[in-house]
Amino acid sequence: RGMHRFSTAAVLEEPITPPVQINYTKLLINGLFVDSASGKTFPTLDPRTGEVIAHVAEGEAEDINRAVSAARKAFDEGPWPKMSAYERARIMLRFADLVEKHMDEIAALETWDNGKPHEQALKAELPMFVRLFHYYAGWADKIHGLTVPADGPYHVQTLHEPIGVAGQIIPWNFPLLMFAWKVGPALACGNTIVLKTAEQTPLTGLYVAKLFHEAGLPPGVLNVVSGYGPTAGAALASHMDVDKLAFTGSTDTGKIVLELAARSNLKSVTLELGGKSPFIICEDADIDKAVEQAHFALFFNQGQCCCAGSRTYVHERVYDEFLEKAKARAIRRTVGDPFKKGIEQGPQIDSEQFEKVLRYIRSGIESNATLECGGERVGSKGFFIQPTVFSSVEDNMLIAQDEIFGPVQTILKFKDNDEVIKRANKTKYGLAAGVFTRSLDTANTVSRGLRAGTVWVNCYDVFDAAIPFGGYKMSGIGREKGIYSLNNYLQVKAVVTPLKNPAWL
Ligand code: NAD
Repeated sequence: RGMHRFSTAAVLEEPITPPVQINYTKLLINGLFVDSASGKTFPTLDPRTGEVIAHVAEGEAEDINRAVSAARKAFDEGPWPKMSAYERARIMLRFADLVEKHMDEIAALETWDNGKPHEQALKAELPMFVRLFHYYAGWADKIHGLTVPADGPYHVQTLHEPIGVAGQIIPWNFPLLMFAWKVGPALACGNTIVLKTAEQTPLTGLYVAKLFHEAGLPPGVLNVVSGYGPTAGAALASHMDVDKLAFTGSTDTGKIVLELAARSNLKSVTLELGGKSPFIICEDADIDKAVEQAHFALFFNQGQCCCAGSRTYVHERVYDEFLEKAKARAIRRTVGDPFKKGIEQGPQIDSEQFEKVLRYIRSGIESNATLECGGERVGSKGFFIQPTVFSSVEDNMLIAQDEIFGPVQTILKFKDNDEVIKRANKTKYGLAAGVFTRSLDTANTVSRGLRAGTVWVNCYDVFDAAIPFGGYKMSGIGREKGIYSLNNYLQVKAVVTPLKNPAWL
């Protein structure tokens, strides 16, 4: 174990001071920052050190009630759904401009609260956030129904209406992007929102929601409640006055919120859940590219991605070469203070996830997978883990079946394409997949054979505001992003009117 020494422990001794101040720690309800009804707060931690960085108002059922009433009023009485779609779009565009202006602070806050590399937050995630609001602002005034033919003398039209109050529950791995994927389409369609951020990462949601109000968003349209799942989250999922629920997180919690929604008022639910996505390297693949992309597919964001390419299937003829290069790449990965330039990997989000990942590493060793590198923590404080690679992994091992959600690459061997399609599909999940090949036929056959919501061919983690994302099987229900997400936030009403002596039908 730990046969490769990583030269990264020292960088953590003096954490870099984040270039941002924390100004917003209260709940944002009806356009105002307020304390929680109970007066309680909870700590949010710096994953680099485990130290408290702020105490945040802890929302519970009563706060959810207050937020839902505000959202209800803003929906029923307006002005949001009664405004022209163009005016709504302009507010969304002004918001995107403000986010762009404050990108440095927001990215710093995201890194501080989440531990992700600052360069990743600033150069990849914030631009995607802004792009997503541009995209959905563009949709706002292009949503409309149809005129529908009928068999008799009737004028029939469909109206595409906002659903009402949307409850949205988001996780900690991409706090800003998850905010954008949920809030963008809901607002474009004219809904109002109560959003519950993850308890590990409450800070950026409050910051950007404040900017939204500066951009002219009327009070009550977007309410942000920080707090824990079983209290605030469950209250939102089971609220009788919430018309739609969108959730991203684990499959287990997805089942709970779906049940809460069903038992209360049958609100419609979309779920974005876990995954154990296969990444398939065929014998004719460009190996160097495949090594780099497979590394990225797994290790990106400290391995904390629902669509992480977490089962690396390699054809037996290229297995040895791939393994040697994948291991070398993992050893080269730079781990350290996420505020430091050039750092590829920061800490895991919290001690719970940190311990869980280390448990899976132990399980891999106990099940006789070969630990090629890594396997241990980095430094003595915070939640840093060495980039870890297992080879000789078998499908039935726990590390090949469960979502590890950490920097642990598991490499499996296969003989032919039909076999690997079957093995890749033998999972309860179906979120994403990757295939590397130079053959168009292989790419087409494999991508059509895989039961997953996204298949990346000779690439991975290519995200775009217009590309839909979501899961087959227990990876979720529905799609987010693109035109598909609009359906999540619209009701269709058919209006049927008799026609007298029509000139045509
Ligand atoms: P989680 O599903 O418990 O949390 C996600 C969100 O749901 C958070 O906002 C949380 O407060 C809320 N929540 C929790 N319990 C709830 C309840 N009873 N009712 C309503 N809302 C509730 O995920 P987690 O505990 O943070 O992480 C556990 C595992 O989930 C991870 O190890 C990982 O495997 C997976 N995960 C997946 C994603 C993803 O993007 N698909 C994101 C985060 C975590």
